[in-house]
Amino acid sequence: MPIRSRNLYTPGSPDPFKLSRSKVQMFLECPRCFYLDRRLRVDRVDGPAFTLNSATDTLLKKEMDAFRERREVPPIAAQHGLNAVPFQHPQMDDWRANFRGVTYLHPESNLQLSGAIDDLWQDLQTGELIVVDYKSTSSTKPIDLNDAWKQSYKRQMEFYQWLLRRNGLTISNRGYFLYVNARTDPDAFHDQLLFTSQLIPYDGNDDWVDETITAAGQCLAGSQAPAATADCKWCDYRTCASAVLTGH
Ligand code: SF4
Repeated sequence: MPIRSRNLYTPGSPDPFKLSRSKVQMFLECPRCFYLDRRLRVDRVDGPAFTLNSATDTLLKKEMDAFRERREVPPIAAQHGLNAVPFQHPQMDDWRANFRGVTYLHPESNLQLSGAIDDLWQDLQTGELIVVDYKSTSSTKPIDLNDAWKQSYKRQMEFYQWLLRRNGLTISNRGYFLYVNARTDPDAFHDQLLFTSQLIPYDGNDDWVDETITAAGQCLAGSQAPAATADCKWCDYRTCASAVLTGH
C-alpha cells in the first residue's frame, strides 16, 4: 500500500515542512496528486529506477572531481568555448547528495526547499557560477531541448538556479546540460557502451519559482484536495476501473 506515515504536512504546525524539487515538479504537474501525496499520505506510484543513468552520473561526478581538484577546464567545456572550472566549495558534497542537496527556508510559506545539483562550474572571466546538469540518453537523432517533456528539465535547472541564488551565490542565467549519448553504431556490445558527450546551453528564468512555492504552500494548507488535472490518463484509469468494479 502506498500509504506513508512520515513527511506529512500538518496545517498550523510552526515547524518548517520539507519539500524537494521533485515534489514542486509534482505540484506543477497536478496539485491534486501533490495534495494526496504530501497531505493525505498517498504516494504516487513510482516508476522504475534509472540505474544506468545513475551510473553515468556517478562516473561524470568522479571525472569532474578530478578537474575540480586540479582547477582545470574540462575538455568538454573547452570544446564548447567555455572557460570554466568545476567549482570548489566546502558544501559541494552536501549540495550534490540526494536527500540533502541545496536547501532554503522560504519564509512566506515556511517550506524548507531542497534540490540536489549535479555540478557547479565557475566562469574564470566573470566569476559567475554555472549550473551543470548531467543527462543520459541513447538516440540517433541530434539532441536538443525541444521535446515537450523536456520542459521539466528546464524547470529543474531554473529551480536549482533559484535555490543557489537564495543561498547568496552569484549564478549565471545560462546553465548547461551535459548530455552523454550511448552510441549504437559499434558492431556488437562487447561488454561496453560507448558514449559521445555534448554540452547544451540553456538560459533559465527563475521568475516562476517564488510564486509557485507560495501556491504550493497554500495548496497544502487548504482543507480540500484540488481538482484533478484534465486529460490525466492515470485519473481516467482510476475512474474507469472504479466504475467497472462498482457497476456504475
Ligand atoms: S489527475 Fe492524474 S496526476 Fe492528478 S491526481 Fe489524478 S492521477 Fe494524479
